[in-house]
Amino acid sequence: MTGQDAKRQGTASILALVVEDSPTMRQLLGFALRRIKGLRVVEADDGVDGLKKMAEERFDILITDINMPVMDGLKLVGLVRKDERYKNIPIVIITTEGAAEDRQRAMNLGANAYITKPIQAPQVVACVRELLEARSGRLDIEET
Ligand SMILES: [Mg+2]
Repeated sequence: MTGQDAKRQGTASILALVVEDSPTMRQLLGFALRRIKGLRVVEADDGVDGLKKMAEERFDILITDINMPVMDGLKLVGLVRKDERYKNIPIVIITTEGAAEDRQRAMNLGANAYITKPIQAPQVVACVRELLEARSGRLDIEET
């Protein structure tokens, strides 16, 4: 069952994909995101892995790092936005402080928001909630 289907059935399942090469960052992001009620996190460790996971399940939001081996976040954002199936998925990029150029490129490629490392859980939750609510028109996305 996809996140969309679960929502229709009222089981409040939100599916988030976290694409990040650092296991520590993946863990921190996952920990923050699980504060959102009904949200399930799937992890991928680079852009190629991310695209593979996106082909397997339908995600409600994509959160991606920029600097990653194999396929970086800029390439991933570009490919996702060019794909008819994913053109409306909210995308949050995670960048390092001072990487203003990467940030701008990602936003130009179609990312919706960015979060700067070091990440803080409340900031991640607020950003993701806002995007999910804006897309679904729901105002009932709760924290656990
Ligand atoms: Mg990285």
